Amino acid sequence: MPAIAGPEIERLIQLLARLPGLGPRSARRAALHLIKKREQLMAPLTSALQTASDKIVICRVCGNIDTQNPCTVCVDPKRDPSVIVVVADVADLWALERASAINARYHVLGGTLSPLDGIGPQDLTIDALISRAHDAAVKEIILALNATVDGQTTAHYITDLLHNANVKVTRLAHGVPVGGELDYLDEGTLSAAIRQRTAV
Ligand code: ZN
Repeated sequence: MPAIAGPEIERLIQLLARLPGLGPRSARRAALHLIKKREQLMAPLTSALQTASDKIVICRVCGNIDTQNPCTVCVDPKRDPSVIVVVADVADLWALERASAINARYHVLGGTLSPLDGIGPQDLTIDALISRAHDAAVKEIILALNATVDGQTTAHYITDLLHNANVKVTRLAHGVPVGGELDYLDEGTLSAAIRQRTAV
């Protein structure tokens, strides 16, 4: 496709197109929108990006991303310090927070074990999790990992390591999604839902 704008604008479009969820067409639309709203949007966005990029740190306690260390979640006195929710990625932490699912602390592993991709225990923050689990204040570790082979392998591995810690280890329920119709579910989800049925 021939360039229809100067290199500065083409560069903006190319960078926007690298964002998840934005293809080349929506990147062009977003760039045009930013350009039209230079004063109200582009300038504040530029400054917000610069400030965030200067200040971003990884929390030394839980591995969350924030602009303070320890992070906002770790220093929040209203959170239950006895429960640690283990997630693979910061995106999962944000998803659980968006759902207001639980008022606990977190531990971000930085991925899941994946022998095929060469990701082993030393590449994740598993050691830090085990030492947090031995804190007397911690009573429960919730493994909120993906229902994939890698996610479940990681959950088993961590469960084995937590054998000597004085904590209850739990994992997310597998089953029928809220608003889900049985006829549309895959066999794996349906059979897990039947196996893990609960009393009414
Ligand atoms: Zn933290």
